[in-house]
Amino acid sequence: MQLVFATNNLNKLREVQSLVPKHITLMSLKDIGCFEDVPETQKTIEGNAIQKAEYIKAQYGYNCFADDTGLEVTTLNGAPGVYSARYAGLKRDAYDNMKKLLGELENKSDRTAQFKTVIALHLNGNLETFTGICKGSITKRKYGDKGFGYDPIFKADGYQETFAEISLEEKNSVGHRGKAVRQLVEFLNSI
Ligand code: IMP
Repeated sequence: MQLVFATNNLNKLREVQSLVPKHITLMSLKDIGCFEDVPETQKTIEGNAIQKAEYIKAQYGYNCFADDTGLEVTTLNGAPGVYSARYAGLKRDAYDNMKKLLGELENKSDRTAQFKTVIALHLNGNLETFTGICKGSITKRKYGDKGFGYDPIFKADGYQETFAEISLEEKNSVGHRGKAVRQLVEFLNSI
């Protein structure tokens, strides 16, 4: 089965590719000749995932799934949330985003947070969503150099290391995207 994963983020493609069964061939946006910015203008993580999947189906005609992820920090009332990529500005710079978040949390005792991924699947005219949540906390400084985004400052519950210090396999097993992808895979296997 051919399925578009509405992303050009190679990190994500790599993560998801390692989880889907072999008979599913994933195509990126580049693979289908989509070089435009896919709109993600909704106010929720779920809304953005649905918007992206629907857009690809409508404009390019492919069955498609799209994901949207946000880091929700308890004491910041769920911020940066849907704005995680551009928390420190339109440059979408991971280093700046982490710096800003660490600054916001400087004097806060509650450092709990969660990553939330929503995957929206547009398959043969039907829409399904799958949500994966990973609870954890924000460290006081950066640790590790693996992964991407906020990985160096996020520790999943039960871990002494940040996401940037553990292997991709381990991150997939406890992480938000892995949880959402496994639900997607289970669904794809059931039809
Ligand atoms: P996206 O919706 O997957 O593009 O994610 C939005 C933003 O959330 C990214 O630009 C990253 O800053 C952050 N993010 C998403 N997934 C992860 C992750 O697995 N680890 C760390 N940060 C992430």
